[in-house]
Amino acid sequence: MGSGCSSLSYSSSSTCSATVFSISSSPSSSSSLKLNPSSFLFQNPKTLRNQSPLRCGRSFKMESQKPIFDLEKLDDEFVQKLVYDALVWSSLHGLVVGDKSYQKSGNVPGVGLMHAPIALLPTAFPEAYWKQACNVTPLFNELIDRVSLDGKFLQDSLSRTKKVDVFTSRLLDIHSKMLERNKKEDIRLGLHRFDYMLDEETNSLLQIEMNTISCSFPGLSRLVSQLHQSLLRSYGDQIGIDSERVPINTSTIQFADALAKAWLEYSNPRAVVMVIVQPEERNMYDQHLLSSILREKHNIVVIRKTLAEVEKEGSVQEDETLIVGGQAVAVVYFRSGYTPNDHPSESEWNARLLIEESSAVKCPSIAYHLTGSKKIQQELAKPGVLERFLDNKEDIAKLRKCFAGLWSLDDSEIVKQAIEKPGLFVMKPQREGGGNNIYGDDVRENLLRLQKEGEEGNAAYILMQRIFPKVSNMFLVREGVYHKHQAISELGVYGAYLRSKDKVIVNEQSGYLMRTKIASSDEGGVAAGFGVLDSIYLI
Ligand code: ADP
Ligand code: MG
Repeated sequence: MGSGCSSLSYSSSSTCSATVFSISSSPSSSSSLKLNPSSFLFQNPKTLRNQSPLRCGRSFKMESQKPIFDLEKLDDEFVQKLVYDALVWSSLHGLVVGDKSYQKSGNVPGVGLMHAPIALLPTAFPEAYWKQACNVTPLFNELIDRVSLDGKFLQDSLSRTKKVDVFTSRLLDIHSKMLERNKKEDIRLGLHRFDYMLDEETNSLLQIEMNTISCSFPGLSRLVSQLHQSLLRSYGDQIGIDSERVPINTSTIQFADALAKAWLEYSNPRAVVMVIVQPEERNMYDQHLLSSILREKHNIVVIRKTLAEVEKEGSVQEDETLIVGGQAVAVVYFRSGYTPNDHPSESEWNARLLIEESSAVKCPSIAYHLTGSKKIQQELAKPGVLERFLDNKEDIAKLRKCFAGLWSLDDSEIVKQAIEKPGLFVMKPQREGGGNNIYGDDVRENLLRLQKEGEEGNAAYILMQRIFPKVSNMFLVREGVYHKHQAISELGVYGAYLRSKDKVIVNEQSGYLMRTKIASSDEGGVAAGFGVLDSIYLI
């Protein structure tokens, strides 16, 4: 399932550690909050447990985390009935993916369909954190736009990564070319997803990452929320919960509407929206759900092309219009192009450059793409860096409150701590799409290896505080069968942003995606059989 920031991937949870940060605010720089990483590693968890989360100026009291429904009470016959209804609903409403056992299902729509892997019931999530995640979304949207405009910041921050990471280096080369030409993106469209986990020890909502390219499931996530609402309308009384507590999810419509508004802004009624796809895509229905709104509600023609096809059929006219297969392209929506695998030859890189050189609205532009990289996430978390991009101190505090501990490997004190206690960290390369992170003892091994090999390799990775979300029993449904698992969840909040020169046309939170996975798997995608799509039940 090609799926960008995309595929379902998670890290395992453990109940062992205290991850509490202390903050010291420096009187000389009033707004800079300084993380004191050593304190989170070495304080006694028991003494910290009852303290409010110090790193967040204001603390939400964690609301009741009792299970909202007692799974033990639901007998197999009843659960089977729910599963049956859920699968009928999914088939009727398009909550489906290609079945990988059916070879053609990645290319030919309508053959080899399978219901999407789902949680049978929504996952309890405290309303205060839900609101927090929604409220910061427009701020993160704005932040990404501002950072993307600072070409020097992007180039400087990634300059050492460039030397050791070929993929990032190729993206930076395209970015440099655009800077040299002083190429301006007048119409800027971001369809982002901000992912969070609720850290059980610190009672805080911490951001896993910002996705700025190929965010998956804006189509299917809305359907999962609707499925859960529908099941609870039928069975909520028996289970003892209420369908109204599953928030309405309009992700598909909001993303499609933002694409349509970008198209309108481009002002060429004959131009099309082009979705950049992988040659094989089992998650195609998620994408088609957006395309069908563009066609049916907005009367916009949508074409699907691989990067290789764009290279073959594409050109940029003198006035910078992008022409592909004889059609002018108003908006390029990337659902591919985020991993080295999407660039098996020079053709794909040529296509990326061609698109970037054109006047088409890119979702994302190369600058937006780079802004979503893990290295930039880590740079933004450094004291004083948000202040470079945002003025309002309250806004800055709201964003900073979501930041987990993030460090470069040049921080020798942190590296030392990570070697001693690798379970409290995640080591991340500059990659998207799941399955790339390093956990547990592998963190230690890799850090020791890098120490031997010399400093240069450090720049390929960042270190992140490991987040430990609550583990709960859940029913996960895959391939028509349900299993009860110990699971953990990650909340993704979609954000849409559209700017035309100085005018912000769209800046909104645009629905959500909950992903739930088996707690014992460090990282695993839908395809790997660990993750499922989910929604939330506000408590
Ligand atoms: P990708 O770009 O590959 O999606 P992420 O940063 O989202 O990279 O990491 C992939 C998965 O790893 C996440 O979905 C989450 O399950 C897990 N993960 C990432 N960072 C952390 C962390 N700091 N603590 C715990 N789990 C994490
Ligand atoms: Mg991710």
